[in-house]
Amino acid sequence: MALVERVEAAPGARRRLRLSNPANLAFLAELEVEGAEQVRAAVDRARKAQAEWSARGYVERGRVLERAVRVLLDRESEFIERIVAETGKPAPEVLATEILTACDSLQFYAKRTRHILRDRNVPLHLLKTKRLRISHRPLGVVGIITPWNFPFVLSLNPTVQALMAGNAVVLKPSEATPDAGRLVSELFIEAGLPEGLLELVLGDGETGAALLDAGVDKICFTGSVATGRRVAETCGRNLVPCTLELGGKDPMIVLEDADLDRAARAAVYGAFSNAGQVCTSTERVYVVDAVADAFTRKVLDQTAALRQGSEGEFDVGPMIRAEQLEIVEAHVSDALERGARLLAGGRRNPDEAGVFFEPTVLDEVSHEMRVMREETFGPVLPIMRVRDQDEALAWANDSSYGLNANVWTRQKRRGTRLAQSIESGCAVVNDCMITYGIPEAPFGGVKQSGVGRVNGEQGLLSMCHTQSIVIDRFGGRSEPLWFPHSTRKARWMRRAMRALWGTSLGRWLA
Ligand code: NAD
Repeated sequence: MALVERVEAAPGARRRLRLSNPANLAFLAELEVEGAEQVRAAVDRARKAQAEWSARGYVERGRVLERAVRVLLDRESEFIERIVAETGKPAPEVLATEILTACDSLQFYAKRTRHILRDRNVPLHLLKTKRLRISHRPLGVVGIITPWNFPFVLSLNPTVQALMAGNAVVLKPSEATPDAGRLVSELFIEAGLPEGLLELVLGDGETGAALLDAGVDKICFTGSVATGRRVAETCGRNLVPCTLELGGKDPMIVLEDADLDRAARAAVYGAFSNAGQVCTSTERVYVVDAVADAFTRKVLDQTAALRQGSEGEFDVGPMIRAEQLEIVEAHVSDALERGARLLAGGRRNPDEAGVFFEPTVLDEVSHEMRVMREETFGPVLPIMRVRDQDEALAWANDSSYGLNANVWTRQKRRGTRLAQSIESGCAVVNDCMITYGIPEAPFGGVKQSGVGRVNGEQGLLSMCHTQSIVIDRFGGRSEPLWFPHSTRKARWMRRAMRALWGTSLGRWLA
């Protein structure tokens, strides 16, 4: 029941993959895996196009992005249909999480990049004879490698940031969702992006690995920890910067004063939207004893109301990759063998032909179980009861991941303080998963969840190298530090040092 299968290739021909729809298993397309030669040619074309693009100002670049928004609004239904065909997601979910967020990303960076990346003159605290100008220069060609779970927006969003910063992009979407990559490319072609600036290379790990070694100036990778580690190794060898957006095992903490109705709805949405295939899915819940029964009852009511399917209106679609379903099954059976209690779901959906796993709720779970330690990336919600906030925090931080987290309390200050104690790159108080959809919010992980940030000011800065230009203000024959060295100069320097850092007036001035 694989959705990406290898096809027997003729001798000397490139490898091919056979893709089928995860919801109904219908054949979609065959994909030829591009190799090192094709990837290198794409990087060369991108490099040629980049010089002219980087000479354009932010306003001009932004106009292309604004045209892309209009194209996206015009072709929205077709884009949704094509993303649904590859992923089986509910169409309204694609609208909300892929198309709406893409429009916002395009418009946000089109309008604001010029303010964020503008050159700045910085007055110097000490050397008043110099002026400092800080400017952000494009890196050149950025290689972007993306996963299959939000195949359109996770490809588009870093592409937008790289392009606005003046780079060219070579995009390698997941082999499971190549058409979403094509959509990004089509969108920019129709918006009038100059040829070569966004090159698309299609294929699997072979193509991705080739991109790492194809002479790019940065890699922006989103995917699993295992692949991220390989990407970092190669980037380290090539001394190429990389941003790694990796997996998560996001905790949810429900305190005794939480709004339990809202928290239960959020738990169900956080665990089951996109069938749990979200890097910021709620993957484990810690609820304090005092409200655990009431919270769990509400979660079960919400879960029972979910409609799983592939036609008409439904809430939860299939797993996008068959391999992922096997991981989910292994986590659930490991948990049950070790004493977890199954409250809902727990099996493949027998009414569907495709790769469906029923929304599953477990309790009586412990940290010996894989479901509490490893990324499940499927529709499973394990609930663990804890004594109090301190115990919840200790368990939340007992993880090798640190991407996002959500905490629930009616006291916002308490929630903020608790969020600050969680070892994660992002955290949410009284909501869940929302961070990636807020372009101002730097997004990324700590521990094994990644290195670096995308989005907002930090995301744009990560697509640039920062150049410091020091300008001499007054000229003159020489500078105090220049040759010749002399004991007279050294004496003068010692006096200046003592006056500056050895007196309280000096320290106040410095
Ligand atoms: P994956 O690591 O298997 O693949 C990601 C991409 O890397 C694909 O395009 C793949 O073809 C490519 N690739 C595979 N081997 C490669 C290699 N050796 N060199 C270069 N590229 C290679 O991940 P996936 O299964 O597609 O995605 C699921 C994972 O992504 C989950 O762990 C999820 O948490 C994570 N994810 C993270 C974020 C985030 O922003 N932190 C967002 C979405 C998904």
